[in-house]
Amino acid sequence: MIKESFEKSIRENKLLSLKTELVVVGGGLAGVCTAVVAAREGVKVILVQDRPVLGGNASSEVRLWALGATSSMGNNNRWAREGGLINEILLDNLKRNKDGNPLLVDTVLLEKVYEEKNITLLLNTAVYEVQKSDDKTIKSLKAFCSQNATTYQLEAPFFCDSSGDGIVAFQAGASFRMGAEAPEEFDEGFAPNIEDYGNLLGHSLYFYTKDLGKPVQYIAPSFAIDNAAELPRIRNYRLNEHGCNLWWVEYGGRLDTIHQSEEIKFELWKVVYGIWDYVKNSGKFPESENLTLEWVGTIPGKRESRRFEGDYMLVQKDIVEQKDYYDRVAFGGWAMDLHPADGIYSEHNSCTQWHTKGVYSIPYRCYYSKDIDNLFLAGRIISASHVAFGSSRVMLTCSHGGQAVGKAVALCLKNGWLPRTLAEEDKIGILQLALNREGQSIPRLNLEDTSDLIQSATISSTSELKIGEVKSCGEWKKLKFNMAQILPLAANNTYIFKVKLQASEVTSITVILKRSSKETHFTPDIDLESKTFQLKKGIQEITFASDKNIDENFYAYVCFMQNEAVDIMLSDDRFIGVMTVLQKETPAVSNYGKQEPPENIGIDAFDFWTPEKMPGGKNIAMTIEPPVQNFNSQNILNNNVRPTADGYSNVWQAELNDQYPELKISWVEKQKISMLRLFFDCDFDNALPSVFVTHPNAEIPSTVKKYKIYDDQKNLIYEKSENYQAINTVVFDEPINTNDLTIILVKKDENIPVGLYKISAYSQNDL
Ligand SMILES: Cc1cc2nc3c(=O)[nH]c(=O)nc-3n(C[C@H](O)[C@H](O)[C@H](O)COP(=O)(O)OP(=O)(O)OC[C@H]3O[C@@H](n4cnc5c(N)ncnc54)[C@H](O)[C@@H]3O)c2cc1C
Repeated sequence: MIKESFEKSIRENKLLSLKTELVVVGGGLAGVCTAVVAAREGVKVILVQDRPVLGGNASSEVRLWALGATSSMGNNNRWAREGGLINEILLDNLKRNKDGNPLLVDTVLLEKVYEEKNITLLLNTAVYEVQKSDDKTIKSLKAFCSQNATTYQLEAPFFCDSSGDGIVAFQAGASFRMGAEAPEEFDEGFAPNIEDYGNLLGHSLYFYTKDLGKPVQYIAPSFAIDNAAELPRIRNYRLNEHGCNLWWVEYGGRLDTIHQSEEIKFELWKVVYGIWDYVKNSGKFPESENLTLEWVGTIPGKRESRRFEGDYMLVQKDIVEQKDYYDRVAFGGWAMDLHPADGIYSEHNSCTQWHTKGVYSIPYRCYYSKDIDNLFLAGRIISASHVAFGSSRVMLTCSHGGQAVGKAVALCLKNGWLPRTLAEEDKIGILQLALNREGQSIPRLNLEDTSDLIQSATISSTSELKIGEVKSCGEWKKLKFNMAQILPLAANNTYIFKVKLQASEVTSITVILKRSSKETHFTPDIDLESKTFQLKKGIQEITFASDKNIDENFYAYVCFMQNEAVDIMLSDDRFIGVMTVLQKETPAVSNYGKQEPPENIGIDAFDFWTPEKMPGGKNIAMTIEPPVQNFNSQNILNNNVRPTADGYSNVWQAELNDQYPELKISWVEKQKISMLRLFFDCDFDNALPSVFVTHPNAEIPSTVKKYKIYDDQKNLIYEKSENYQAINTVVFDEPINTNDLTIILVKKDENIPVGLYKISAYSQNDL
C-alpha cells in the first residue's frame, strides 16, 4: 500500500531521462518511416507520438487514405507509387486489409514499429519543451504522457520533427513560414490571391454511416448548424458519400490553424452533425431512413500550418518543370492542390488542382532546418512554398521523404556529419545510393553500385518475353473514349500493329502514334503520326504500319480514337511495363480529360490518359511486328526497379508459357555472398489507398510468390513460398561461396509472365 502525507510543496511527476541517437517527434506516416528506416540501419530511435495510435492523418482517428505520386491513377504519372519502406507498408496493408478497414491500418503500423528493437515507442506522449545546448543545437526535449503520468527528458544528437505543426522546430527557433507567398517571390503563377482565396488550407472531419436495416431516428445536438441546406457544396452531396469522400467538409483556413485548432474542430462538429440533420430530417434524402452515423472524427485532419525553411525551398517551377537537383532523394506527383480558406462556406470550388506532366524530385536540402544544426524535417512541414506544399503534403510523398531522413541520420551518425554536411556534392551520392538500394527509385538517377557483385556477373535465362502477339480473349470494348496501348518500343525500328475491330455501321477510325516530348514524363504530348481507316460494318482487322523510325527507345502510345460505333478486341494477357490507358475523366482528382489552366499561371496544358483500376485495364489484343523485346535478362543489371519514361521496362520477363523460368548468374571467380536482394514487380501503377477502398486482390497478381535459389553445387540456399512483397532481402548466416546462382521462379498467374527487375548481391564488407 502507498500512503503519503500532506506536502506543502508541489509534487513532481515521475521523470524518466532517456538518451538515444535520434528522437522522432510525431508518429504520422512520415515519422513512422523515418523511425523505422533509421532503426533498420542500427540507429537507436525514440519515436514520440502524442496520440494513442500511429499514422497521424492515416490513422483510424482521422481515416484519410494515404495517397501520393500516382494521384489515385488519375493523371499521367505511370508506375509512380512510392518505393521502399512505405511500399512495404502498403503491400502489408493490402495483404491484411484489402477492404480498407481503418483499424487494421493502425495495427500494420504498430507492428512495423514494434518489430524494430531499436525503436522505443512513446505513445500518448506529447513533446512540449525544447532545450538547446547552443543557439543552433537542440540538446533535449521534454514530453509528458498523461496515461502513465510520466515526464520524459529525451536527449539525442539528432532530432526529426514530423509533428505536422513543427513543435520542435518552432520552439528551437527555426525560421518558418505560415500562409501563402506572394506570386512574385518565387515566380509562382498559382500562388493564391490572399484576400479572395485565402492563405491556408483548413482542417476536415469525416464521418462514416451504416445501414441498420430498419428505420433510425436522428435528433441533432443543439450545437449542430441548422442551415446546412445553404452550404454551397451541399448541392452536390450524394447520400453514398462518407469517409474520405468528405474531404470538402473543411474549415479554419482563415484562422490560426495551430492555436485555434480546437475551435476549428468544434465548428466542424457543428457542420457534420448539421449535415446529418439535413440528410435525415429535411425530407430530401428519403433513402437515408435506415442509415445511422457510425463514426464521426474527434481529431480533425490538419492540412496546413507552419513550413520550415531548409537550405532549399521547393517551389512551383521545380514541380512543373520537373527540375532535378543534384541532391534529389525523394519524389512527388500529386497535383498542386490548394483549397479556399473558407472551406465549406466558400463559393469557390472546394479545391483547385493542377497536375504536372510527370513526377518531380525533391532535394535533400528541403529536409533539414537551415538554422538548427541537428534538426531534420519530415512530413508536411518540409521546406516548400505554399504552392509546392500543395503537392508535397500528401502522405506517401511525406513518407518517401521520411525514408530519406531516416537513412540520412544513420549516415550522419556513422560519419560524424551534420545534416548539412551530407548535402555536399561529394557526399550526397552516398545517401542516394543507400536509398536506391532499397527501392527508393529517385527519379532519373542511375548511380553505379560498385559493391553489387551482380554487376560483374554474366546473366542468362531460360526464356525472355517477346511480345509479338497480345492474344485476343473474345471480349470487345466499345471505344467510348480514346484508348491507347502503352508499349516500350526499341530504337531504329518501324513497327506494324494489327488489331481486330467490330463496327456497328460503316464508319472510320483514327489511329495515332504518340509519345512524350521528354524523358522525364509519360505524358503523350507529341503525335508522331496519324492514320485514318475506313471501316465496313462487322468484324475486320486493320493494320497500322508506322513510317517513323525513332533513333532512341521510347514508350509509345498506340491510340485508337473514340468512336462509339466501334468495338476493339481485348486480351487477358498482362505484361509488366505494358498497359492500356483511356482519355477519360477522373473528376475526383480534377482530371476532365484535359488540363487547361488559365494563361500565365505557369502550368502546362495537356491531355490525361489514365488507366482503369483492376480488374479492369485489359490490354488491347494485337499483333506487333517486330515483336517488343524490352524484357531481356540483362535488365537485371540495370538499377531501375520500375519502368522509366525513357522507354525502358527495366524488367526481365520470361515468356508467358514458361511455368518455371530460371535465371542464372555466373562469375568467373568464386564470390562470397552475405546478402541477396531481389526486386519483384508490385504494379507501381496501382495507387493502393490505405483505407476506405476495397481492392480486388490481397496480393499484387504480378508479384512472384514462390522461388528457390541454388548455388554452384546445386545446394538449395534459399526458398520462399509465400512472397507478396516487392523486395526480398536474404541475409545468410554464413557467406555463400559460389561461382553461380540459379534462381527458379514459379509462375503464379495464368495471364502474367514471371518478372524480376533486379538482384543485388553483397559481400559482408559491403553491407
Ligand atoms: C482532410 C484532409 C484530406 C487530405 N487528403 C489526403 C489524401 O487523400 N491523401 C493523402 O495522402 N494526404 C491527404 N492529406 C494531407 C495529409 O494528410 C497531411 O499532409 C499529412 O498527414 C502530413 O503528414 P505528417 O506526418 O506531417 O502529419 P500528420 O499525419 O498529421 O502526423 C503528425 C503526427 O504528429 C503528432 N504530433 C503532433 N504534435 C505532437 C507533439 N507535440 N508530440 C508528439 N506528437 C505530436 C500528431 O498526433 C500526428 O500523429 C489530407 C489532409 C487533410 C487534413
